[in-house]
Amino acid sequence: MPEFTPAELRALDRAHVWHPYGPMPGRTDPLVVESASGVRLRLAEEVHGRRELVDGMSSWWSAVHGYNHPVLNEAATAQLGRMSHVMFGGLTHEPAVRLATRLVEITPEPLRHVFLCDSGSVSVEVAVKMCLQYWRSVGRPAKQRLLTWRGGYHGDTWQPMSVCDPEGGMHELWQGVLPRQLFADAPPAAYEESYAQGLRELVARHADELAAIIVEPVVQGAGGMRFHSPEYLRVLREACDEYGVLLVLDEIATGFGRTGTLFAAGHAGIAPDVMCLGKALTGGYLTMAATLCTARVAEGISRGKVPVLAHGPTFMGNPLASAVACASIDLLLGQDWQQEIKRLETGLRDGLAEAAALPGVRDVRVLGGIGVVQLDHEIDMAAATAAAVREGVWLRPFRDLVYTMPPYVTSDEDVDRICRAVRAAAAAG
Ligand code: PMP
Repeated sequence: MPEFTPAELRALDRAHVWHPYGPMPGRTDPLVVESASGVRLRLAEEVHGRRELVDGMSSWWSAVHGYNHPVLNEAATAQLGRMSHVMFGGLTHEPAVRLATRLVEITPEPLRHVFLCDSGSVSVEVAVKMCLQYWRSVGRPAKQRLLTWRGGYHGDTWQPMSVCDPEGGMHELWQGVLPRQLFADAPPAAYEESYAQGLRELVARHADELAAIIVEPVVQGAGGMRFHSPEYLRVLREACDEYGVLLVLDEIATGFGRTGTLFAAGHAGIAPDVMCLGKALTGGYLTMAATLCTARVAEGISRGKVPVLAHGPTFMGNPLASAVACASIDLLLGQDWQQEIKRLETGLRDGLAEAAALPGVRDVRVLGGIGVVQLDHEIDMAAATAAAVREGVWLRPFRDLVYTMPPYVTSDEDVDRICRAVRAAAAAG
């Protein structure tokens, strides 16, 4: 017997629990999830006639294999019996070593060293530290600013917030206290030489103070679900090489196949100096992220006055998460994952095409396992969410966007259902 009824849980939640970007005292009314299996969330009580919802969000884009997966369960259970955590300073273990080795194998060639941490935001903090520390270590301490383009999202801790879209989200709140970074305009969807030239000039003009360029490759996610030409990544790579700036690719959302290539850098055939991974790294099972860097960056840091990477919170290199991450990567690469993403892409394209004709719809776009309907107005989130739930689907619309990033294992029938829900949410919101 559960200790609390769903109504009691909701009341206690409102009294005590702070949700992401939620108010306190609680004025939101979250649905209570009892369990999850495959692509379905089971609710503790019926809502809008539904007890089960197909998860169109993959738990913020992470649960690519679905929930309660026997292979991932087995990896977690086996590791649990050995050790769930052990400090990583001065000690090491097979799951972390295996994971780091595997990540180096599957990411672009010059990436060689891996720092395993506990969230995407922290992996971006680590990436920024690596870059700033690198320049300090090689005698260029003035190189300490970051360049990014508008419309981005890199996490909610301090340095990542400084490179999030300055107009979006909570940025307003931190005016004047965040590090002041450099912003280019958000990249256009198609390649435009004049925009590329502007990027080159910005890098050239600020090369003396720039430590790194950090961007989300090909898809800007939480900042607006925008897609852009991979050609811009080549432009950034060339500018970084020409003017002596490090390139950080934040592949936290795009990594592990989401855009149709294993990493979005693959669309451009380039490699970054530093890469951040998270979300789908453990198939959404456990909290873990990774920052990878090249030998050049690592050796530069090691030559410095402080020859160590200055980062070491308690839960780094967690063995349980590492073991599940290894299993998740094997599961993904052990199947024809490209075919699966293509199947999702086709299903989303077919299913969302007719949303373009709905009143108030400005744009419909699909790439890999990402489907987006953009409206010409701010969405009524409660109405849009309720419309999706009525269709038996969990979505989380925001700003002017209704979008889906379903688990890769979503059946064609469930992709259809998700598309129906996206259309219903767009019409209702
Ligand atoms: N970078 C990108 C591109 C992301 O999409 C996110 C999460 N939405 C983050 C960083 C932050 O990751 P986390 O939420 O795990 O801290």
